[in-house]
Formats: sequence, structure tokens, C-alpha cells
Amino acid sequence: MSADVLSFRHEAHQAPVAAAERAKRLIDPGFGRVFTDHMAVIRFSDEKGWHDAHITARAPLPVDPASSVLHYAQEIFEGLKAYRLADGGTALFRPDANARRFQDSARRLAMPELPESLFVESIERLVAADRDWVPGGEGALYLRPFMFASEVFLGVKPAAEYLYMVIASSVGAYWKGGMRPIAVWVSREHTRAAAGGTGAAKCGGNYAASLIAQKAAIGQGCDQVVFLDAVERRWVEELGGMNLFFVMDDGSLVTPPLTGTILPGITRDSLIALARDAGLTVREEPYAIDQWRADAASGRLVEAFACGTAAVVTPVGRVVDAEGDFSIGSGGTGQTTQRLHDALTAIQRGAAPDRHGWLRRL
Ligand code: PMP
Repeated sequence: MSADVLSFRHEAHQAPVAAAERAKRLIDPGFGRVFTDHMAVIRFSDEKGWHDAHITARAPLPVDPASSVLHYAQEIFEGLKAYRLADGGTALFRPDANARRFQDSARRLAMPELPESLFVESIERLVAADRDWVPGGEGALYLRPFMFASEVFLGVKPAAEYLYMVIASSVGAYWKGGMRPIAVWVSREHTRAAAGGTGAAKCGGNYAASLIAQKAAIGQGCDQVVFLDAVERRWVEELGGMNLFFVMDDGSLVTPPLTGTILPGITRDSLIALARDAGLTVREEPYAIDQWRADAASGRLVEAFACGTAAVVTPVGRVVDAEGDFSIGSGGTGQTTQRLHDALTAIQRGAAPDRHGWLRRL
């Protein structure tokens, strides 16, 4: 069956979480701990192509100990949110962009590329089935599409069978009581990605390799790790799970370019567009860690912030580094950071005009 005409089956099932229990779990859901009643599944095999698309009750998977992913880590994922809108509706934010990045990640990991239409449909159908789990207020439904090598086989080669799934998690406001500047720690020993590697792909392996540095950052009393480039250990790349922006005293913004070693964040792309809409200059150019320190000291750098789907926009207040710690601006939330945060979240919540056509209403 051709992928484009693949139809989703809805499996009837008993025992979704009762309404009273759901309401209790939605009071203070935190991040990534409260899961919904359903999941979306599509299978792939070299023989049948994409097949067996369905929405079913969320349940543990039977995993053969020889499943290829457990040994060779052929796995990719995505992350996006469904928001409750000001008018009571629900919308996804730029799911087409996540679909394309998922295809790019698949290509890099020698996996089959899920058609964009199937990616978006799987998410829409899951959100429709779990609509009651989309929190109101500042919360959202975080969607996690992922795909892994399910072939039962030992041997280093691209698998012949894959399982694509989407699960959903009700999440609360990332910052309760407003944004708080984070502290970041510069990893001098470990890097995240090298040219020709998988830095631009969203694969589990990248995160596995970053954990030792993230752990060190926490050990230094910081929230996140800053990775430098793998060759010169000089250029600022990104955080463990967010892209970085620097705001200069002339109002312009700088963000590291997409040269293949950082994740092309969809929040990054959206903020570049919104900043340019507001008449700000945005330069995608390399920024050195020594320059960051010097600009913070001279006052040329007035703000820095990190961005990603989970926290949207987060000010960076302090940098902890073996070659000297430094603070940025007043250490609080800068004006440009706040303005970009407010502009993006207003669009995501349907409270401002969606000039770029980023919302996909459900
Ligand atoms: N960099 C990394 C390493 C990430 O994991 C993420 C989160 N997906 C981002 C940047 C931000 O990407 P996005 O804005 O698409 O969430």
C-alpha cells in the first residue's frame, strides 16, 4: 500500500484514565511525567513499506533482546507541542517543520523517511484521541514522535524493520512564576558533534553522548552545558538541549550558523523570523567563547538567551567556565529576550496574528 493512502485504524479499548484521575494529574504535571491514554503507531519493513498505521491504548512494548536499536542505537525522535488557544481551540506549532527535520534525521541514520503527511496525520489523530489531556493555562501537550530499528538481528547494518510511534505528555508552565535566568557551564573536555557526524540530526545517540557533560554542569551548580566546536574548542555551538542567541548593545542578534554540528531548532528559526519582522538585524555567524566573555565584560553584549520547544525562550544570566566565570547584563531577563518570548508565545497561544502560518488548528 502506498504511504499516501495509508489509512489509520482506531483500536477500541477499555480503561482510559478516568476523568477524575486525569484532572488530578493535570494539576501540576511538571514535564515528561504525565502521559495520555493513547499512542500512534506505524510500522515499516523493507518488504511492505509503511503499513499498519493505528491509534491504540498506550501500553508497554514487547521488545526482543536482539532488537537492533538496543545494540546499534538506530533511533531518532522529535518534540513539538499542541497548545490550547485563546479562543478555546487547539493547534500544533509548525508540525511540518518537525516532519522535515524527522526526515533529515532519518536520512542521516540510514532509516526510511516517513512522508510529511503521515507524520502530521499521526500527531493530529493522537491529539484528537487525547484532546482532554491538553492542559489549559500555560501548559501544553508535548508530543514525542520517534522511530527505532525493531528488526531482531545482530550485525551492523541498517535494519530492515522499524517502528514509528507518537506518545504525548501533558506539561505545565516551564517557569512557574515567570522566567528565571539560567546558569550554564562550558564543557572544555567533551564535545557534542564534529563535522560529518550526527550533530544536526535528532538521534538518541547525541543525547547519550552529552549526558556526562550535562551531569558535570549540574555538578557545577548550573542548569545546562554549553558545547564548543570539536576542532578548535573555541566556537560556541549550543546547549545540551537548546540553541543560543546573543543580543548586542546596538540591538542586533547573533546566533551560531547551521553548519551541520548543531540542531536546526524550530524555535531558533521562528525567533530569527520574528526578530527580523521587528526590524532587528540577525547574524548567523560563529561566536567565540572568548568573545562572549569579552563582550559581556565590555557591555557590548547586553543579553543572551537559549531557546527550544520545551522552555521556548530562557535568559542566560551566568556562564561558569574553567577560564573564568562571567555574568551577562544585569543577570535578569533582558528586554529583547522578553519581547521575543512574548511575541512567540502570543502566536503559539492564538493571542497574536499568525502572519507566517505557523499554527495548524486541530
Ligand atoms: N538543540 C538541541 C540539542 C535540542 O535538543 C533542541 C530541542 N529539540 C534544540 C536545540 C531546540 O530545538 P527546537 O526549537 O526545535 O525544540
